Amino acid sequence: MNAEDQRFIRALETADKALLQSVPRSDLHCHAGLSFRLEVLERWAGKKITPPPSLMESLAPMNRWITEELTELYQDRKCFEFSLKAALAEAWNDGITLLEMSIDVSFIGLYENDPMRFTRFIREAHQVVAPEVDFRPELGIARDADPGRWLPLMRDCIETGVFRSIDLYGTEDARPPEMYAEMYQHARSAGLKCKMHSGEFGTAASMEHDLNVLRPDAIQHGIAAASSQELMRRLADEGTVLNVCPTSNIRLSRVTGYRHHPIRTLFDAGIQVTLNSDDIMVFGSLVSDEYLHLFTRGVMNAEELNQIRITGLSQ
Ligand SMILES: [Zn+2]
Repeated sequence: MNAEDQRFIRALETADKALLQSVPRSDLHCHAGLSFRLEVLERWAGKKITPPPSLMESLAPMNRWITEELTELYQDRKCFEFSLKAALAEAWNDGITLLEMSIDVSFIGLYENDPMRFTRFIREAHQVVAPEVDFRPELGIARDADPGRWLPLMRDCIETGVFRSIDLYGTEDARPPEMYAEMYQHARSAGLKCKMHSGEFGTAASMEHDLNVLRPDAIQHGIAAASSQELMRRLADEGTVLNVCPTSNIRLSRVTGYRHHPIRTLFDAGIQVTLNSDDIMVFGSLVSDEYLHLFTRGVMNAEELNQIRITGLSQ
């Protein structure tokens, strides 16, 4: 065990968040636009923004909140640019050293669909705000969005070489994975890591179908796998990483509390799991908080959480 491991374990055992933030960690599941605190956006916008409900029964109330409170703001390129910089600063402040943050393809519309201008800004923001962070921009698309409109633009964005991975999110059953198979094949052959949201609201069966069709390297959430021994064995054997976000799952009513979170079952099944923030603006929890939540509730011990930290950094 090296000095970093020891510092991390001591930070958990003494609930010392500042010490914990001084130890390298990854965030492999978060979304630009929602990855910093709401107060920061309020300050930029110069107005009060109604916070999201503390408990939501599904993704629909969260999407409603985004539409009502954020969509208009994000139609301004300045707001998008501020939000990306704020998210990088938030990650840096939390001591994140490896960041895979998805940026929705629709934001290219703020740059007249010009992939060069779009990605130039992303590169500049990284250099200006957090050059020390290993930031790997991720290109994302919502299953709710029109694939006919956005998939061709995703290809253009991939051609720039700036994006390192792709992600698929939004309403899990809005469109079947088959609609994205060609895009995933294209991204994979261009050397990008393929990720997708699955098994958050879906079942082990729908997750298996997603795996068969899109063959993702990593799954965002994937907690439904805990209900199937067979699927857990497959994920462990194939080395598919699950980028888990406990607070998000609780606030969206997928799990009743930290103590009941299936990360314990998934970890015990030998699956590579990581801990991530998802949407700081909505769920109010940094990656450092996620580690502390699981430790203080006795879900995982300090050595296990350190193992999860190392898994994240090795991606
Ligand atoms: Zn997510």
